[in-house]
Amino acid sequence: MLQKLFDKLLLAIILTALTSSYSYALIVELQPKEVVPGDVFFIKIKTNPKSSPEAPQVEFAGKTVKLYQDHDNHYYALVPVAIDTAPQDYPVTVISADEKELVHITVKPYKFQTKKITLPEEKVILSLQDQERAAREAELLAGLWPKNTPRIWRGRFTKPADTAISEVFGVKRIMNGEKTSIHQGLDFRGSTGTPVTAINSGTVVLTENLFFGGNTLVLDHGLGLYSVYMHLSKFNASTGETVSKGQVVGLIGSTGRATGPHLHFGVKLLGVSVNPEALFKLEL
Ligand SMILES: [Zn+2]
Repeated sequence: MLQKLFDKLLLAIILTALTSSYSYALIVELQPKEVVPGDVFFIKIKTNPKSSPEAPQVEFAGKTVKLYQDHDNHYYALVPVAIDTAPQDYPVTVISADEKELVHITVKPYKFQTKKITLPEEKVILSLQDQERAAREAELLAGLWPKNTPRIWRGRFTKPADTAISEVFGVKRIMNGEKTSIHQGLDFRGSTGTPVTAINSGTVVLTENLFFGGNTLVLDHGLGLYSVYMHLSKFNASTGETVSKGQVVGLIGSTGRATGPHLHFGVKLLGVSVNPEALFKLEL
């Protein structure tokens, strides 16, 4: 008798636990589940359809990530992992109207290569005039990243050139044993005139000749995602124009501070430089 009562009570407890967690839980998926510093990951959220129609908020490493809604109660976002992120497990907090869910992403350690380069002194030590120009242009670029426009990109991201990669993301360069810089992009080989294509749909927000980048084109893909194409010999699109994925936006060249013709390609997500190779791998 007592046993039966106990069984009934246990069943009631289990049922209550099950129904409450099922009706209120947010479903959160990460792709991939493990990253290295400089990567980008994709978060997929399904909210409780009964809760308020407001978009949930995602917080990672002290930053709020803007989500986009695909349909009904499904939300998505691309999240940057800055290159200086210390390797460990990080909480990703998802907050919806009446729900809060905590998932974790593992940032594994990664040993970025260090390269010692010897260059003519005048290429390393800039004149005051060049320093001022470079600083002005760095500010011009930095002014682009905070603009968070509606999403234009759709589906997977494609490579900007159909050529081999000659320098990966994150390489630490020590020039003449004094000045160090981190390579915040990917270099693609290619002779002058090789086509450079848009990695996804976007709006051209900059076509300028810069001191370091030479002819530089920037695409705004929306939701704080930008792609940067440098050292171009020619622009095939102009500022204000909307381009589609795979469209030729310029030609490879060696303008600016380049030792030879190649494409320096970079990706900025919410103001953070991320490894383009991590973006190309995502199944979107
Ligand atoms: Zn480069």
